[in-house]
Amino acid sequence: MRMNLEGTSLKREDIDSKRVLTTRFRSNAFYAWDTGRGIGRYLQGLKAGEIWGTHCDTCNRTVVPPRIFCERCMKNQVSWVKLQDTGIINTFSICYVNWDASRVEEPHLPAVIEIDGASQGHGILHVLDEVNPKDLKIGMKVKAVWKRPEERNADITDILYWKPY
Ligand SMILES: [Zn+2]
Repeated sequence: MRMNLEGTSLKREDIDSKRVLTTRFRSNAFYAWDTGRGIGRYLQGLKAGEIWGTHCDTCNRTVVPPRIFCERCMKNQVSWVKLQDTGIINTFSICYVNWDASRVEEPHLPAVIEIDGASQGHGILHVLDEVNPKDLKIGMKVKAVWKRPEERNADITDILYWKPY
């Protein structure tokens, strides 16, 4: 027997006849989530000015952000590895549009940074600065520019941006 799981779509007359009540309200809900052991330790590392990844001895991969198990081997015996705060540009964009679609004169420079010490192709999405966008190249060496220690919050923004060195 086949069940009908598609539900019943609302019709304008359902709302007009108040068969269905609608209202608008501002949510007063607060959200929190646990970062878990892997990302929690990664974020605490950022607060200390360090970038940590995890290494799988079975497939010999070092990944960042860290995972507490290797999704390739399905093995949870991974070890923590302190990585460098340097890397290379894996890919980048020269972005003249804000998140709200307004135009900007000075472009944002989002980039994927392959972190030195991690396996090839493993890195983080962040932003570049102190560079002429015309000079950007894939493979360019970059270094993290950190917030001052007392300003860090165990957040990816503890790294302000990456710059060529
Ligand atoms: Zn593995």
